[in-house]
Amino acid sequence: MRHPIGDLTDRIAVITGGASGIGAACARLFSARGAQVVVADVNEAKASRVAEEVGGVAFAVDVRDEVSVETLARRSEAEVGPTAILVTSAGIVQPPLPPEALPIDLYDQVLAINLRGTYLSARAFATYMLERRSGAIVTISSITAERSVPLHAYAPSKAAVTNLTMGLAGEWGRAGLRVNAIEPGYVRTPALQEQIDRGHRDPALLEEHSALGRMVEPEEVARAAAFLVSDEAGCITGIALPVDAGYFAVGGWAP
Ligand code: NAD
Repeated sequence: MRHPIGDLTDRIAVITGGASGIGAACARLFSARGAQVVVADVNEAKASRVAEEVGGVAFAVDVRDEVSVETLARRSEAEVGPTAILVTSAGIVQPPLPPEALPIDLYDQVLAINLRGTYLSARAFATYMLERRSGAIVTISSITAERSVPLHAYAPSKAAVTNLTMGLAGEWGRAGLRVNAIEPGYVRTPALQEQIDRGHRDPALLEEHSALGRMVEPEEVARAAAFLVSDEAGCITGIALPVDAGYFAVGGWAP
């Protein structure tokens, strides 16, 4: 049955970071909307479990590594088929820290996974999409791309992802590719839960700093992603769509 909005019947969708959180929610929803899903993640065991659940295919990838990402794209194209959709959800967070206390290794890691990983993934799959003059890419940025927050590696990495998304949209638009970002607010995922469990974030404050008075569910980000990669959004490219429970309307940094 075709879904009235965001139908993805018979499209091949590759999701980096697809083993957990927002990426796993995209895998489940895209599959329910008719897509064949490729779950690509550094955590191969978890990727396999999600792929099995959605009748998809799992591949191991480290998005920091150019060869690993290009191998993923080559194998996915050869073994699964032509990629219509790419979601780049692989990412890591950092604890809030003053800049002088932020270990430079952590800074490098965050930039390597969140920014370089997004760039390498988009570039590797776009190579194939450009040949077919067709494809839709969604990058997962963050509300922190737009605000001053004490996450001095994470927030700049996401600001760069939003900016990169616009740049790629401009570069590839006339060749039939659309590239959009989602800027999620506080999403109830394992990554955020870990920050809460470690006492780095207070869930009550995260809820308070939103117009809706609650966090975002991973499925709600996935629904926005499904819309953006679907034909419904055929004239939408280069945007950064907040899915933030109204953080931008009323929020600020919530420790
Ligand atoms: P998550 O930890 O649940 O999922 C992230 C996935 O990325 C994991 O499966 C992990 O194994 C994978 N990954 C990490 N490093 C990788 C690498 N080098 N190569 C391949 N895969 C790798 O986190 P999440 O909350 O679902 O986050 C997904 C994306 O959403 C991230 O980019 C994150 O920055 C972004 N985001 C999350 C929130 C939130 O509140 N949870 C808010 C805004 C943006």
